[in-house]
Amino acid sequence: MESNRCLVCSGPSFSYFSKRFSAFGLSVVEYYRCARCGFVHSQTHADMSEEEWSALNAAYHSGYQSLEHNPDDPRWLARIDAQAAFIADSANRGLIPAGRAWIDYAAGGGQLSAALRRVSSLTLLNFDRYMQCPEPALRTALMPGAFDFVISTSVFEHIRKRADLDAINALVSSHGVMGLHTLVREEIPADPDWFYLLPVHCSFFTNQSMEVLIRQWGYQCSIYDVESRLWLFFKRPFEEIECVVDVVNGRGGKAPYLLKQGFFDYWK
Ligand SMILES: [Zn+2]
Repeated sequence: MESNRCLVCSGPSFSYFSKRFSAFGLSVVEYYRCARCGFVHSQTHADMSEEEWSALNAAYHSGYQSLEHNPDDPRWLARIDAQAAFIADSANRGLIPAGRAWIDYAAGGGQLSAALRRVSSLTLLNFDRYMQCPEPALRTALMPGAFDFVISTSVFEHIRKRADLDAINALVSSHGVMGLHTLVREEIPADPDWFYLLPVHCSFFTNQSMEVLIRQWGYQCSIYDVESRLWLFFKRPFEEIECVVDVVNGRGGKAPYLLKQGFFDYWK
């Protein structure tokens, strides 16, 4: 039974599997898979009203943002430190421009911005639609194209609508960089016991769906940092980025930068 269109590629999405939850007011959640790009989404979450969705998030997220450990993601703070180091290194190499402001979209408690400040003089503004953020917070309106670097960590899996994805991308300047931390796989397993099926996760990206998405958005190539689980997407031509990466990797030492045209499909 065809139900709807994939929010990434507009392909037909079909019922894939369901999972029964017993907390946060959820019961049976229905997951659909795109026949074309493999993107999986929860139709149950997509059908929620804004009020229901906000209530679910408030109930789930009230637990951990200020604590040292999120029980569903024990490596959280160690990964944020690694992300800050990788971002600072990339900026040093000239891979991320800093003529315009940088923003952490859905920054939560501002942990990444703070980590970046500990290892560099770079300013990453905190923005969160649902939370009061610590300094440095975005003080102006969210203007399209106003940012040379827009990073989101653990955000894409919470997206319910295509417009919300496009709103994040629209912030990136014409030669800017997008940073992304989310889970991407070759295939999303049809398994109700899969660890990633949290009550607030509703979008699950495959390598193919990410390839489609960043091409639609006009990104030419991407770097993946394994240690910090972070992608950088570049609008600049592949050859320009490749020149920088070749120099970095030619010097040896730290782990090489992994670069690919289109989406770097590291997890297969
Ligand atoms: Zn699709």
